[in-house]
Amino acid sequence: MSNMFPLPNAQWPVMNPGSVWLCGAGPGDPGLLTLHALNALRQADVVVYDALVSQEILDWAPQAHLEYAGKRGGKPSALQDDITRRLVELARQGKRVLRLKGGDPFVFGRGGEEAQTLIGAGIQVRIIPGITAGIGGLAYAGIPVTHRTVNQSVTFVTGHDATGDTPTSLDWDGIAKGSQMIVIYMGIKHVGQIAARLIAAGRSPDEPAAVVVSATTPKQQVLDTTLGRMEADIAASGLEPPAILCIGEGVRLRDGLDWQALAVGLAPVPRPAMAAC
Ligand code: SAH
Repeated sequence: MSNMFPLPNAQWPVMNPGSVWLCGAGPGDPGLLTLHALNALRQADVVVYDALVSQEILDWAPQAHLEYAGKRGGKPSALQDDITRRLVELARQGKRVLRLKGGDPFVFGRGGEEAQTLIGAGIQVRIIPGITAGIGGLAYAGIPVTHRTVNQSVTFVTGHDATGDTPTSLDWDGIAKGSQMIVIYMGIKHVGQIAARLIAAGRSPDEPAAVVVSATTPKQQVLDTTLGRMEADIAASGLEPPAILCIGEGVRLRDGLDWQALAVGLAPVPRPAMAAC
């Protein structure tokens, strides 16, 4: 297929047969795709996509064969190997392969591993960054990840490691002491443990926290809570992943910046009282 990308005045990259483009699809809202992602969707023969990539986004590739590669419980590692093997196989068949992943492919998405294997197999690769849930998802909840007068640093952590447990290799004391805003991916399952470690390392249980579920999608929900109450509030709310957790004074800015609420004429929801737990 020729490069049909419609924007003028730019030489859009052409997907070569036998190549794999590893691309971020953003956190959900199709409007958060990059133009490179759209260009790739328009050219691919095959799109190998993950669970968090929506149908609306896949609809941009009507010419492509769609293959679901989302991980189901059980054996994530074996399945990851299967996915990478499949990408190599498709490329060797001479297909233009688009590997589409939620958010950014290099942020907690194992994109680096897939790229290493592909490059090791001699396959031409292009990386297309995407908007990661820990930045774009929070922006849709009115939470800036940095704010000049509040926090000048942000730390992104995963709530579980390759074994499925809270990462033991992480220095939680160091994170508690050195990170102004802590943004946690895949954190719902171990939120109790994570909060306890941060509090034990000196963070206040009263520190504002938010949980943003299905961020940037029509199902987006935001839970306003505190570090100390987070686990109980999540359990009581029945909220389910995917969710981004964030902890830090910057969360308070949401009080005035909840632009989605403002857009429909609602006053931003005031934070719950900061009662000690
Ligand atoms: N590469 C992705 C992250 C993949 S790990 C990125 O850059 O965003 C999957 C985790 O990402 C989920 O468990 C959740 O913590 C987070 N996530 C992805 N999309 C999300 C969304 N729309 N809303 C909330 N969290 C999301």
